[in-house]
Amino acid sequence: MPTPPHRKISQRACDFCAITESSTTHLLRCSGCQASYYCDKIHQAADRPRHKTGCKAVKKARDTYESEDQKLRNFQGDIMTPSHPFENCIGHFWGVLETRDYMRARYNFVDTIMQVFGATGGRIDVVRSSLEHLLDMLRLCRGDNMGVRDVVPGLYIRLGRDQEAYDFLKWWGTTAKEDTYDWGDTESSYLDVKDADALEEPVEGWKGKWIDLSHAVAVVLIKVRILIDLQAAQNTTRALHGTIPQEIIDLIRDEIGSSGIVGSRPDILRGDTEKLASVVETIKAQIKELYKGINEYCPDFWPMFLGNPQAAANQRPGAYTHGSKEEARLAIGYSIASWIETAGAFDTIKALSQTV
Ligand SMILES: [Zn+2]
Ligand SMILES: [Zn+2]
Repeated sequence: MPTPPHRKISQRACDFCAITESSTTHLLRCSGCQASYYCDKIHQAADRPRHKTGCKAVKKARDTYESEDQKLRNFQGDIMTPSHPFENCIGHFWGVLETRDYMRARYNFVDTIMQVFGATGGRIDVVRSSLEHLLDMLRLCRGDNMGVRDVVPGLYIRLGRDQEAYDFLKWWGTTAKEDTYDWGDTESSYLDVKDADALEEPVEGWKGKWIDLSHAVAVVLIKVRILIDLQAAQNTTRALHGTIPQEIIDLIRDEIGSSGIVGSRPDILRGDTEKLASVVETIKAQIKELYKGINEYCPDFWPMFLGNPQAAANQRPGAYTHGSKEEARLAIGYSIASWIETAGAFDTIKALSQTV
């Protein structure tokens, strides 16, 4: 199977004619789904036949979420539960029974809008707002009974926020694994890792027997993106060596991966070629180690991921056991957009897989 072709995440544009917003073009938002934009009513009407099914599904999911939200905000409390959960139960949602319908409806809304408008190549606005919803759900329910933490890293990566993705993954891979961590105490630190070094050795939570599959896959992608940027810097240096001044090479190197992790590491980019080469080898070795760990945990994962990942992602299982095909499908579903939207990511992991 050839690797899936690269696609870019979409910027805000008219859904009918694709014109983007500018100082002279103000786009109108569809009031139904609140996710599609049009230059005017004429283009909105012209797009309606194609748009209406998805629009209605999103509107329905949002209406349910908003009505559950209102119900919970008006909740007066009873013997078991304090009133005003949004003030009195932060961090403990789900543990409080009345919050469950709300949490389910909110997740269903995010899931629906992501499927309709936020899948691979989808809209950046939708990905951004979905990420905010999920992070807020984690604030309300620290223990994350619904597993939204598996969806979060891919969204961060799609938005080019690799450092935040890495920090998020590292918290779940370290602090969350500590036996002594007190989930019930909302004073204890939560998702507080900041500026962790994404070039470091993988932590225990991403390897070994109790791997968190979707998180391990997200870490692989972050490292693949670092590798792609480092190799681009290497190629630039090789191609230009001796033909243009070092300052220009430095400038070009700074442009490489400027939104990602490598762009914030001038120490590596501006280091000598030997240092760059050694960092490249280190990252490759880390990716291979993670690759092997994932393969041991779930032998079906890589053949599906490197075979026909879209087909795997489309089959969304309701339940899974650890290390099963179903878990692999779920993890692929959570991550496929972030891989396809990274130019060269599939080819990089495929090439590395042949040397494991
Ligand atoms: Zn238009
Ligand atoms: Zn709409």
